[in-house]
Amino acid sequence: MSLPPFLSSIDEQKDQMIHDVLSWSNINSGSLNLLGLERMAYTLRKAFEITGASGEVLPSDPMTVITDTGAEQQIKVGPILRIVKRPEANRQILLCGHMDTVFDTSSDFQTWEDLGGGKIRGPGVTDMKGGLRVILAALQAFEQSPHKDQLGWEVLINADEEIGSFGSRRHLVEAAGRANLGLVYEPSMPDGTLAGARKGSGNFTLVVTGKAAHAGREHHLGRNAITALSSMILDLNSLTGGRPDLTVNIGKIEGGGALNVVPDLAICRFNVRMKEPSDQDWLQDAMDSIVAKMNNKADYTAILHGSFSRPPKPMSPMITQLFDLVRMCGSDLGIEIKQQPTGGCCDGNNLAAAGLPNIDTLGVRGANIHSNQEFIITDSLTERAKLTALILHKLSSGNIPFPKKAPAS
Ligand SMILES: [Zn+2]
Repeated sequence: MSLPPFLSSIDEQKDQMIHDVLSWSNINSGSLNLLGLERMAYTLRKAFEITGASGEVLPSDPMTVITDTGAEQQIKVGPILRIVKRPEANRQILLCGHMDTVFDTSSDFQTWEDLGGGKIRGPGVTDMKGGLRVILAALQAFEQSPHKDQLGWEVLINADEEIGSFGSRRHLVEAAGRANLGLVYEPSMPDGTLAGARKGSGNFTLVVTGKAAHAGREHHLGRNAITALSSMILDLNSLTGGRPDLTVNIGKIEGGGALNVVPDLAICRFNVRMKEPSDQDWLQDAMDSIVAKMNNKADYTAILHGSFSRPPKPMSPMITQLFDLVRMCGSDLGIEIKQQPTGGCCDGNNLAAAGLPNIDTLGVRGANIHSNQEFIITDSLTERAKLTALILHKLSSGNIPFPKKAPAS
């Protein structure tokens, strides 16, 4: 089949795309580096002006964390960039990405390096500054499509995806309500395979308090928070496998001090993963009863903080249909698109939970993300930008059935 001629403009941009990704990689935008994120937001806003749409930089909501004394604390997270074109069009697409990386200012991974063979190693090049550049090139090309007026788009780029998107959650849900379909730019597998069904995830912090006492004189009067927490950890750990593929990962424990004091505070942080939405209720009940058992003991208190931040994303009929479209666009471009389920999760989970069917691995090909060996396969920049531009072109042509907007929540 013949490809729309505007797609070839993307190939001409390859050097510029690589140049931009590397200059963005040079800006440290670790999830907690507010200054770097601010700089990244305004740099991206400027870059996206070429699409003819003007962006706005919006504040995120504060995020609640549990400190090492077990207290709740609100912290500020980085800003959100929102760019909107043709909001009046009947068909609306949300293109979603994140500007934060897992590499903060203290990381030893701050600069890029050309590995040769079309691979460049660098912080965030694949996850997902390359993906952001794919969005830009695709939109720039799509704006030359003869059907462009049939389709409005919104780009939402948050700054706290790597720490759970708590500060941008409200914006994601609102944007999901404005759109018919979502495209998210997490990297694909190195061979281009996309993520299909995704597990859900939750992060929890369990704070146990007992009673301090002198370990020598009055050991019997103390209530040891560490041993109490330890018994709870074994109970929590045993929930793994309680439902198919459900896991509880005890990630971090804190507590105690001087060895001659019965410790009165212990904290455990853990992550849970589940496949089915109904697993969340099962797990919540199980965790609640473990907590209640401790609270029934005299002189002990247990408080469970946290939530299921990313619900499971099963393959729905609409997502399957969207995959068929992506596969069809891929085959027009001579790329075979496969998909497989994953235990990882991303903002695609949140958008799906808010009722927005989406495909969430339309970003670049690369590997070793979240490590200092992260690299991008540079050919994938133009390849994936053409894929998205063609998806948008087909969606705007009116030949593809469009789902209704997600119900407002
Ligand atoms: Zn990512």
